[in-house]
Amino acid sequence: MDKFDMKRKVLDELKKIQQEIKEGSSRDYSADFSQIGHSSIKEGYLNGKSIQRVIFYLRGYGCKWAISRGGGCFMCGHYTKTSMGRKISPFHFITQFQNEFAKYDFTQYPMICVYNAGSFLNEEEMPVIARQEIFRVIAENQHIQTVVIESRPEFITDEVIKEIEKTLPHKRVEIGVGLELESDLSREICINKGFSFEEYELCAKLISESNLCLLTYITVKPLFLTISESVEQAIKTARKASDLGSAVISFEPTSLQKGTAVEYFFNKGMYQFPWGWDMIEIMKKVHDLPLEIRIGGFEFFPIPEAFIQNCAFCNKKLYEAIYSYNATKNMELLLSLQCDCQNTREVDKNKERSLDEDLISRVYKILELEGEKQWN
Ligand code: SF4
Ligand SMILES: [Zn+2]
Repeated sequence: MDKFDMKRKVLDELKKIQQEIKEGSSRDYSADFSQIGHSSIKEGYLNGKSIQRVIFYLRGYGCKWAISRGGGCFMCGHYTKTSMGRKISPFHFITQFQNEFAKYDFTQYPMICVYNAGSFLNEEEMPVIARQEIFRVIAENQHIQTVVIESRPEFITDEVIKEIEKTLPHKRVEIGVGLELESDLSREICINKGFSFEEYELCAKLISESNLCLLTYITVKPLFLTISESVEQAIKTARKASDLGSAVISFEPTSLQKGTAVEYFFNKGMYQFPWGWDMIEIMKKVHDLPLEIRIGGFEFFPIPEAFIQNCAFCNKKLYEAIYSYNATKNMELLLSLQCDCQNTREVDKNKERSLDEDLISRVYKILELEGEKQWN
């Protein structure tokens, strides 16, 4: 079979699996869409200081890509808490936001992240009237300095950028875009992202020519990549995002969310979560890039079942070191971590050498031999 046919078969099979997972996943049908999904306070960094930021997870319509047939990123389980395309009144979004907003004393929180389990700038997912009302409320609060929203590139237009510049003239606005991996092939096979590097490049240009800031999400250890490949691709992706004017990058070590292909392959023994050591290896190579770096992967709704990890002896220290880095941008704790489990990671890396070097052939074999443990 030639490579073209092999790739087509791999993609067809992965999309079939993805669709079956979504159809079989449990949903929150009783959800009240006038109530926010969740909100939390997390560490952050602003103007050279540690801060605390507030994160809102609005209950939404669902990411347009996630609700399309075979669509949705392999690590993303946000859709399970959405209406999956059923219409939600704009007033429900406004009520969710306003009620939650009233609970926080923003003199303590100069940064707010407003997520809607999809693209905040897609009018089908977030009605314009609700989007503008949310911006108006934030604009009126003099204590909030930074606002973070997320969107796929296809919804980031010149028009919407101008609208944000006009509505939030005195705030720093970050638009988070999930590039995940710079390689189009890996992004297609390992993430099922549904957009090309070129599309990211275009939106990066639009944002960097405006007063807004581009925040680029980069996946660490997606499905099917080996530890070494994942580390190498994360570094390469960070450098490209920096070259294209990203003001911030956030590494997103893959976590375990229910109703995802990651969960499916993990349960079959064909996927292993990122090591904390992977993140440290990446950070050593990119920490001096001229942009802000965050280590994410913990801020999701629903809350993931498992995260980046090392071993039971050093996980606590790893999480403290990640927390400390995000709050201070100081690498000291990350670099001082020591544990014997580093050797176990080396053993894992050696085992992966037996895997096919070509990604398409590798995934083809994994899918064909589904049920048998091929990965590790
Ligand atoms: S990661 Fe973003 S683009 Fe991908 S399915 Fe989830 S919400 Fe949609
Ligand atoms: Zn350890």
